[in-house]
Amino acid sequence: MSRRWLFADQLGPHFLDDRRQPVLLIESKAVFRRRVYHRQKAHLILSALRHRAAELGAQATYLRTDTYAEGLRKVREPVEVCHPTSRRALEFVRRRDGVTVLPPRGFVTSLDDFAEWAGGRRGALRMEAFYRFAREHHRVLVDGDEPVGGRWSLDVENREPPPKDGKLAVPAAPVPKEDDIDAEVRADLDRWEREGIRFVGRDGPRRFPATTKEAQARLRHFLRHRLPAFGPYEDAMLSTDPWLAHSMLSSSFNLGLLDPLHAIRGAEKAYRSQGAPLASVEGFVRQVLGWRDFVWHLYWHFDAGWRRSNALAARRPVPGWFQELDADAVQAHCLSDVLAGVRDHGWVHHIPRLMVLGNYALQRGWRPAELVEWFHTRFVDGYEWVMTANVVGMSQYADLGRMTTKPYVSGGAYVNRMSDYCGGCRYDPRKRLGADACPYTAGYWAFLDRNRGRIPANARMARTMKQLDRLADVDRVVAQERRRGNDAP
Ligand SMILES: Cc1cc2nc3c(=O)[nH]c(=O)nc-3n(C[C@H](O)[C@H](O)[C@H](O)COP(=O)(O)OP(=O)(O)OC[C@H]3O[C@@H](n4cnc5c(N)ncnc54)[C@H](O)[C@@H]3O)c2cc1C
Ligand code: SF4
Repeated sequence: MSRRWLFADQLGPHFLDDRRQPVLLIESKAVFRRRVYHRQKAHLILSALRHRAAELGAQATYLRTDTYAEGLRKVREPVEVCHPTSRRALEFVRRRDGVTVLPPRGFVTSLDDFAEWAGGRRGALRMEAFYRFAREHHRVLVDGDEPVGGRWSLDVENREPPPKDGKLAVPAAPVPKEDDIDAEVRADLDRWEREGIRFVGRDGPRRFPATTKEAQARLRHFLRHRLPAFGPYEDAMLSTDPWLAHSMLSSSFNLGLLDPLHAIRGAEKAYRSQGAPLASVEGFVRQVLGWRDFVWHLYWHFDAGWRRSNALAARRPVPGWFQELDADAVQAHCLSDVLAGVRDHGWVHHIPRLMVLGNYALQRGWRPAELVEWFHTRFVDGYEWVMTANVVGMSQYADLGRMTTKPYVSGGAYVNRMSDYCGGCRYDPRKRLGADACPYTAGYWAFLDRNRGRIPANARMARTMKQLDRLADVDRVVAQERRRGNDAP
């Protein structure tokens, strides 16, 4: 029988077929030398790998080597591996003699499903259409040929601002208990740092699941206690509560600990037999079955050069204060708080990623390739496949809309509507000129002015561009933002 090699993002039971099949796990130190990772991300990956080795006991061979190649040289029998999640790793396994590559796992839809769907389409590929196809194909939240509730997407019901009293009454997600394996990981990382391997961000108690058992406990708790509030407050931000009602399961899906279809069926059951509101259930299913599978397929469907797209000619380097997660250097309340969230937890939810971090980078014209690297290494759930679509395509519009209809760029008004940040800020979201001009509001107009000739004209942009044309002070705004440059706002 071949030995099944499990990469560090293939750790759940659904990556094995046979309880007796020998397993190979390789912990490569070179991975942590190649990039500067968030300390808590490095901890989570090592902890998950080592916990899996402990669970499998004698069934697994666990190798600590410098590189994967070195590890593979120590194995005598034939090896098989599920399709890895990056182009680089896929090329690596395909080039090895004696290694068989199996189809991917850890996603709901197969590469063939996607090819069948995408093959018959002209023009841009849109998540909404793929999501509908995937729901029909896997019969998720459908009755007969119709979506339950009559609509495929209840997105419009998922955009409530945060509660006025600044509190969302949901029980906190269960936090895993650290054990001896975590203590060993922490000691090893301390030693690696002394040896010169660099990490960023603060260390802290492990907040994200490292085993399937922990991930399933978090999922069960989410479905029962947090899912009802997830939908309406999906886009809201609160300075006092970074987690709101989000599932905090992305790292568990991406480490392969949790099968996404299991989570989707659980959410459907919560609607059908436990009274969970449809807008929340459909919202969650749309994220997991729609967005997650869609961005996975786009990574493989588009050419390898997609991740290097830079159609808006964004040439500024990502500045040091952002690279180092130096939240204390930032006065803009929203950006400082979100950057502190990344520094302290290696995680913030979708809207801070898109509308605070990504939006700021887009406005300032930071290099998309550096941002891909930044999001990949600073977030506990960051991987190349998920980053390319989310950063290059969605957040930076660096491909001029291969997956979105317009850039996700906005001024302070959006942050003001969807959060409690602006009240406690030294800037004023309504102002674009002067000492208290909101850097987002001013940056928005400067961005549009700079990219007027690059952003393709379409109906969704036409109104915005007309507003820009009517701004009498745009030259002064542009000059002010040029002076602000890359300094921490
Ligand atoms: C600039 C940017 C970078 C991002 N980087 C990552 C990343 O490195 N890894 C990652 O998993 N997600 C990433 N996302 C998507 C999304 O922000 C996170 O999946 C989500 O915030 C994780 O928190 P959660 O588990 O509580 O998600 P929830 O809000 O509870 O959503 C449920 C699940 O849906 C999936 N999901 C939702 N949106 C997306 C999406 N756009 N792409 C892929 N999966 C999605 C995730 O698996 C998530 O766990 C990024 C988004 C943006 C805009
Ligand atoms: S005023 Fe501007 S910088 Fe301050 S919190 Fe609001 S959006 Fe952020």
